[in-house]
Amino acid sequence: MKVVDMHCDTLLGLFDRRVKGEQIGILENDLHIDLGKMKKGDYLLQNFAMFGHMENLKGVMPLPEYAFRLADIFFTEMRKYPDQIGIVKSYQDIEENMKAGKMSAMLTMEEGALCEGKVEYLRIFYELGVRMFTFTWNFANELAWPNRILPGALAPSGLAAPGKFVPETEHGLTEKGFEFLAEMERLGMILDVSHLGDKGILEVIEHAKQPFVASHSNARAVCGHARNLTDEMIRGLAEKGGVMGLNYCPAFLRDRENWSSPLSVSLDDIVRHIRHIVNVGGIDCIGLGSDYDGTNISFEMNGAADMPMLEKKLRDEKFTEEEIEKIFYKNVLRVYKEVLK
Ligand SMILES: [Zn+2]
Repeated sequence: MKVVDMHCDTLLGLFDRRVKGEQIGILENDLHIDLGKMKKGDYLLQNFAMFGHMENLKGVMPLPEYAFRLADIFFTEMRKYPDQIGIVKSYQDIEENMKAGKMSAMLTMEEGALCEGKVEYLRIFYELGVRMFTFTWNFANELAWPNRILPGALAPSGLAAPGKFVPETEHGLTEKGFEFLAEMERLGMILDVSHLGDKGILEVIEHAKQPFVASHSNARAVCGHARNLTDEMIRGLAEKGGVMGLNYCPAFLRDRENWSSPLSVSLDDIVRHIRHIVNVGGIDCIGLGSDYDGTNISFEMNGAADMPMLEKKLRDEKFTEEEIEKIFYKNVLRVYKEVLK
């Protein structure tokens, strides 16, 4: 089954390891994602996020320089293997790669602060090929407020602790955030509300004129973490024709009090989220947003090569071929076709 995945942090994985002096690339590595694993997993398209951790970057280097360094890894690595993967900036590019039997790679930005509040920078990043843009990560920035993160919310393991994120119901998008929203829609860049606070997400639902995504967020009614979407948000996103990407991070799949250990989280939890999202927003609003290389995955689906496990699980759970196709790639491609120019 073809796979379209809206979010991974593999560029950060490569960047961090290179900073430590390792020779590491996209062809073959020990991360969740490399070209070999993608091929095994039958990937059609992977989004690669330029993620910035604003606290860690303070005083280290100018933010645009950091973004350029990640983008450079993206371009140089992908261009080394033109027979296997092609960079896409339009829906037509995706179709051409499919015809040529190649996988596709799309550049995205996770953390709007990398634009330093300048809409000009957003336009430059668009020209560079960024086609999906996440307003915030877990810190407030020039554009918007995320759900509030309390001290100690991120364990050294990278796992997000539940109960330490508080829904942000007071502050949403700033005036600048609304300006970015309008400019993204004008350009044909996909809005991503993952990490955004509750108020901000509801504002995007109200103001967006085009389908948008929550690239890597699950259902809050199934797992109460504030990174997940409430039923109201799922309905609003679905009504706009948008898609939410299933995130395999254990903390977003099952409430921590129901873990005996991270190992107790399993594919059954993903199925519970899918069933709930189908009931609330319908089958057309679900896609994939693995969060590979941005989180520790404790269960069997521990990398791009393992995607057939989820396909098998959904068949065993009596999902139809058409439903599995929609979840794995068709719904996200529908949004790309509609929004990308
Ligand atoms: Zn994220």
